[in-house]
Amino acid sequence: MNRLTGFAFENQVAHGAFVELSEGVAQMLGHRAYSADVRALIGEAMAAMPLLATHLGFEGRINLQFQGEDAMKLLVAQVDHQLEVRAMAKAPEQLQGSFTGLLHGGVLALMLEPRAENRQSSQALVPIEGTSLAQALEAYFEQSEQLPTLIRLAADGERLRGFMLQRMPPEDARAGEQDWEHVSILAATLKPEELLQADPATLLGRLFAAEPLRLFEPRPVMVACRCSRPGIARLLLSLGRDECDSIIAEQGRIAVTCEFCGKEYVFNAGEAAELFAAAGSVPSNTRH
Ligand SMILES: [Zn+2]
Repeated sequence: MNRLTGFAFENQVAHGAFVELSEGVAQMLGHRAYSADVRALIGEAMAAMPLLATHLGFEGRINLQFQGEDAMKLLVAQVDHQLEVRAMAKAPEQLQGSFTGLLHGGVLALMLEPRAENRQSSQALVPIEGTSLAQALEAYFEQSEQLPTLIRLAADGERLRGFMLQRMPPEDARAGEQDWEHVSILAATLKPEELLQADPATLLGRLFAAEPLRLFEPRPVMVACRCSRPGIARLLLSLGRDECDSIIAEQGRIAVTCEFCGKEYVFNAGEAAELFAAAGSVPSNTRH
């Protein structure tokens, strides 16, 4: 089962979460040829997204996006407030390398995209440093949010796991610096491979045996793509009638493949014409 399990210490020094993903992972990663290293990095990014969403104080989406030219070209991982996760990457098929090797020369950014139109999107750079995506995200929280955070991510084929421990803002906590040091030192002993071997309750018992904490009811996480025919129709409308007409003149139809899930949407000439007619657009050859 895909789930996100939150926990908090009774003294409010820190809170955290575990994420466990397996259902839907093979499908999401299955329609493109990825090298083992690229696949593992996408897996880690997918595991990170629900952890990041524990921060989302609004309805909308978090987008982790990498763009580069030297090695990987593109990596996109997204999660929304309903904990639906999707991800994809573009990279040369044979590309292998370490975290910093794969992302060499590019830019990694985290975008918060509220759905409400009156709320601004925001974007912050994630420093490409350390030996893993987890360490880069830790650096992001330290620099952008001033919140000491510990993250572990593990990807083993179709099984993805993540762990996050974060200090509560000092004004919210009854505990002090020493309490944080104590729990963060304990948490730092957690190895990514241990994440793959035990469930959250067992791991918490192992890590923080003597610390009073609460484990929350797990929330379901979906690994799925929310692309739809109406969504693709909106994309065609934004392309414009002339562009769509010229694709149909050339290919007889418009076929759009979703970058995330590989699903293909086809609009024949009649369907495309109907789409533009419904939107109040007329073919350019009938314009004055
Ligand atoms: Zn899709």
